[in-house]
Amino acid sequence: MDYKNLIEKAVATQSLERGEIAALLSCDAAGAALLGCAADDVRKKNVGDGVYLRGLIEFSSYCRQNCMYCGLRRDNKKAARYRLDAQQIIEFAAKARDYGYKTVVLQSGEDCFFDADKICAVIKEIKKLDLTITLSIGEKTFEEYQAYKLAGADRYLLRIETTDKKLYEELDPGMSWDNRVRCLGDLKKLGYEVGSGSLAGLPGQTFESIAGDILFFKENNFDMIGIGPFIPHPETPLGNAGTSGNFETALKVMAVVRLLMPDINIPATTAMETLHPQGRLLALQNGANVVMPNVTEGDYRKFYELYPGKICTGESPAQCRYCIEAKINSIGRSVALVKGFRGDFKRGETGCAVNAHVASAGGSCGF
Ligand code: SAH
Ligand code: SF4
Repeated sequence: MDYKNLIEKAVATQSLERGEIAALLSCDAAGAALLGCAADDVRKKNVGDGVYLRGLIEFSSYCRQNCMYCGLRRDNKKAARYRLDAQQIIEFAAKARDYGYKTVVLQSGEDCFFDADKICAVIKEIKKLDLTITLSIGEKTFEEYQAYKLAGADRYLLRIETTDKKLYEELDPGMSWDNRVRCLGDLKKLGYEVGSGSLAGLPGQTFESIAGDILFFKENNFDMIGIGPFIPHPETPLGNAGTSGNFETALKVMAVVRLLMPDINIPATTAMETLHPQGRLLALQNGANVVMPNVTEGDYRKFYELYPGKICTGESPAQCRYCIEAKINSIGRSVALVKGFRGDFKRGETGCAVNAHVASAGGSCGF
């Protein structure tokens, strides 16, 4: 298979057929290097060298769902469950603002304790801090999504996880794929910036199926796409699955998504760093432009265990903030001190500090 031709086509047209994407995802290391380089070029031209930071607050580890891959699933009786109270969430957000974050992401399991009124009250308080708010709290009704939006929420993250409906319904018992699609549609209608994404390396998942995920992202024109390598959690039914190849696949998926959706936001996910010590930097060099450092404090960090081996569970938010900036600078990129909406770079809102020119000098791989 001539990967170079496929990559050239993707760069020139921002579109590939399903079979072509699947072929590209199966490329060898040399193909992956070429793909990553092309994605890095497209990233630089369309979203620049700045990296957007989002401060992640994991406010509840209770979940009513039972996703087979996730350590927070309700049947995991060994999971440590906690929920922060409203005041703590607002305090963590205020500290995030003091560390220079412009956005906070409020994430949790699907915890019914936090009804719409409670979430809206928290949103309203955090908005007073002039922070952009992203929610990642699962499937809700149209009315609930509407209430959060009216209270001031700006963005919502809800991964489709996989577009293989049969696989989805096997892995997410009691959940319906159609309802997840309904949620994503409602969020768009309500004017959120919508992030979706999928897991890479799920048992039973094929490159064809992942190619379908990528086409789904493009068809729906999502504003942000998060790709997580699947990491088996021992206290789940998928605990014995391996992780072989998941990191490499996730990296390729990010790169292909960047080629087909040049101006969107793509996070270098934390799960990447669990599988590889330089995982987030490699993601940033393969198409990603966002990092979501943890701003949750104390033991809660380790209790919020979607997958094992989570990084930085012993660090403080301040340590994470400075560590990530040093890492970002080490690859010639810089933290962009703006809210980081899709299109900000093209609108001239770069927020980039001094060393942006370092990366601008290099980086063409001939496409
Ligand atoms: N409950 C919300 C948000 C928290 S879960 C929701 O499900 O949308 C956030 C993400 O964690 C999920 O979308 C899933 O893709 C990811 N995740 C769960 N278990 C994982 C695992 N074992 N490995 C990697 N990512 C995982
Ligand atoms: Fe709950 Fe989200 Fe984990 Fe599913 S992925 S069990 S909804 S926290």
